[in-house]
Amino acid sequence: MAIPYPSLSRPMNAVNDNDKLVDPPKACPICGKPALVRFKPFCSKRCADIDLNRWLKGAYAIPVVENEGDEDEPPRD
Ligand SMILES: [Zn+2]
Repeated sequence: MAIPYPSLSRPMNAVNDNDKLVDPPKACPICGKPALVRFKPFCSKRCADIDLNRWLKGAYAIPVVENEGDEDEPPRD
């Protein structure tokens, strides 16, 4: 469940973009914590998954998902 951030080894003024809060700040629609750029608009992979499950269980018919399981894609936003 833990997110493997090597944040302890980084200087505070060199935070990776992936760890930044979204700008302007937004609350995660799932749990209300501040959303991170990495998981935008969510605060974590877990919340993104929760939202995805809502979709899958909802009324919408989702096209085939091809990238399922690809959790480490580089966030080139
Ligand atoms: Zn969240």
